[in-house]
Amino acid sequence: MDAMMDVDLRSTMDIQITALEWMPYENGYLKYYPDEDRDVYLEQCPDGTLMVSPERFRARVMSEFDYPLDQVYCGDNPVLLKLKEFYRHCWVLKLHDPYISLIITILTQNKTADSARRTFYRLQHRYKGIDVHKMAAADKGELEELIRTSGPYKADFIIRCSQEIIDRYGGSIEWMRDAPTREAREALLGLYGVGPKTADCVLLFSLGHSVVPVDTHICRVSERTGLSMATGDSEAAKRKVKEDLEKRRRIPGMAHLLIINLGRDFCKAVAPLHSICPVGDICPKRDERKEKKLT
Ligand code: SF4
Repeated sequence: MDAMMDVDLRSTMDIQITALEWMPYENGYLKYYPDEDRDVYLEQCPDGTLMVSPERFRARVMSEFDYPLDQVYCGDNPVLLKLKEFYRHCWVLKLHDPYISLIITILTQNKTADSARRTFYRLQHRYKGIDVHKMAAADKGELEELIRTSGPYKADFIIRCSQEIIDRYGGSIEWMRDAPTREAREALLGLYGVGPKTADCVLLFSLGHSVVPVDTHICRVSERTGLSMATGDSEAAKRKVKEDLEKRRRIPGMAHLLIINLGRDFCKAVAPLHSICPVGDICPKRDERKEKKLT
């Protein structure tokens, strides 16, 4: 656990669905643990150590840190090799319950991560821990109010997809863990309110399938860095980016977190920070910038 001194908590909490169980609070993050009916607080101290309160939850919280991002990629793409070194203090977090992952991802659809994590925290407290049976039986009006800031229309998604999981799969989607990826993906896409990115997030973060969830940011950064030749972020472009990353470059699903980090910190949609970018010296956009006399 000494390696935990090297965690970059902000980066870890910013880039993955699994981190959305933690809600920003004061200088750290708060998570509700339903089995003990209590909140646990996590904060990074100035010396880099992680403070957990109450302390008796330390081992449990630390066990949720799975592995650092320098372990997610073993290929030879120079951009990804540089990024995995640069983001080696960012960790992959565990979230084993695919149903929780599904609900969190639905809450993020068209909304910010911060909005989704506040809504999820509210749901967890109201229902003393959500599960498929509680959500299938939830009062729609109350649920709409509880999730208002993340889109009240999603109450329908949550209730109906929970009912479908009970009716079709006996209340659990755990079977998808051992199913072929294509079959699991199609089953998820068949649930009400579940689109391609939501399905891929659940497959990747909680079911152990190596797929790349593609959104606007992944499209933009993949195009600029030459990881994909697709342009724009239409549905067709997203499919092409996914194919390029998964099949042509054989990038493991979790390695997409490196691309998300790059997009968030440097390769922003507006005013990208070329001059301080960690892959600025090898990015194909470099020559284009020189031609335009940009820094
Ligand atoms: S050099 Fe510029 S375009 Fe290339 S990845 Fe960095 S920020 Fe993006």
